[in-house]
Amino acid sequence: SLTDRLSNAFKNLRSKGKLTDADIDGTIREIRRALLDADVALDVVRSFTSRVRERALGAEVSDALNPAQQVVKIVNDELTEILGAGVDRPLNFAKNPPTIIMLAGLQGAGKTTLAGKLGYWLKDAGHTPLLVAADLQRPNAVTQLQVVGERAGVPVYAPEKGVQSDGGDEVSAPGETTGDPVKVARDSIKLAKDKLYDTVIIDTAGRLGVDDVLMKQARDIRDAVQPNEILFVIDAMIGQDAVKTAKAFDEGVDFTGVVLSKLDGDARGGAALSVASVTGKPILFASTGEGLKDFEVFHPDRMASRILDMGDILTLIEQAQKQFDEEQARAAAAKLSEGEFGLDDFLEQLQQVRQLGPMKNLLGMIPGMAQHRKELEAFDEKEVDRTEAIIRSMTPEERRNPKIIDGSRRARIAYGSGNTVSAVNGLLQRFEQAAKMMKRMSSGQRGFPGMGGPG
Ligand code: GDP
Ligand code: MG
Repeated sequence: SLTDRLSNAFKNLRSKGKLTDADIDGTIREIRRALLDADVALDVVRSFTSRVRERALGAEVSDALNPAQQVVKIVNDELTEILGAGVDRPLNFAKNPPTIIMLAGLQGAGKTTLAGKLGYWLKDAGHTPLLVAADLQRPNAVTQLQVVGERAGVPVYAPEKGVQSDGGDEVSAPGETTGDPVKVARDSIKLAKDKLYDTVIIDTAGRLGVDDVLMKQARDIRDAVQPNEILFVIDAMIGQDAVKTAKAFDEGVDFTGVVLSKLDGDARGGAALSVASVTGKPILFASTGEGLKDFEVFHPDRMASRILDMGDILTLIEQAQKQFDEEQARAAAAKLSEGEFGLDDFLEQLQQVRQLGPMKNLLGMIPGMAQHRKELEAFDEKEVDRTEAIIRSMTPEERRNPKIIDGSRRARIAYGSGNTVSAVNGLLQRFEQAAKMMKRMSSGQRGFPGMGGPG
């Protein structure tokens, strides 16, 4: 019978004990493509997949996951590990305030925008941040930070204007009119100590490309104020250039953490993996838009899923591992092959699936489905509710043997479930078709369609 064939197939798989080359290779190829599509640097992809391969080869075959799922799980674990050992890295606060946070990165990376977001976020958490305009390269840079600060309700220290409080009062920085960013940074720390600002966020100049002048200036600011955090801000859309840029800033200023910006765009986040993998530095935050609140603490596990475009497939795998009841599945398969699968069995299965969460979410967890967001949005959960309601309005006898449901029974079920007779007809028709198909499948000589058989 089908049941025996299925359980034999499982047994064969299990008796292998370990995943084989063939189990692994196809899945690795898919993963490699996913990583390259996500703009992960080629070198990083190479070393990553070879590490995964090694781990997968040694992995035991599990009962609940098929080999492909198991490799995906290993990949996801490894990605999460590289992206931050699987834990969120909190901001490092100074024992004695002020905590000094310096921002570094190329021009346009999103530093000034981030300064406002960080300030707003810190203020919201009860801190008293001060933004510092140490980008004196571009004429508008100081004004831009002041606008950002005003919007965030966070005071800004700037060389010409002094301190502007959120109330709009100006406190002059004594005698400060020079354009020396190192001096501005140093003076801002003095001021913070005086006025009891507990965090100082220093916005620095960037250039379009990495160059020595830029790096030296950043290093000079760093050495003058000895920040608790040096955050390297990188545009997630930068793609293959991420590695080169990250390496340069790592060597140039030895940053302590990374902020990914513009994650709201199309970027699949390959830059995150490249930067983390090449520098070994943690990613602290993600910037996801131009607004002040488009900012979040970085979660390695979520980014790993995003890179693989697996939605939350792993959550699904974990839930399936927990809830998969082999006995029940076997019983259903047996009924199927005997042609005894009724609406009562269907209802039971439907409920089991729904225990995992809303259908829309479940569908979204299927790899590749992220590209079908529109269809997912259009998915009508109510249709499933309706189906359930109709079956519930049937007697146990009717559920076991839908053939007995004649016209008057249909009218009663429709009335009882608050549906039209044609909705009941539709359901019965679909069920009959499905049952026929399942019966054909289970009695066929060639095994399950789509399971690798010649059929
Ligand atoms: P900086 O040169 O590093 O200071 O970069 P800016 O903060 O001036 O940002 C450069 C441009 O990117 C500006 O137009 C910002 O509005 C925009 N920007 C910054 N962060 C984000 C983000 O997370 N998402 C989007 N969509 N735009 C951003
Ligand atoms: Mg800027």
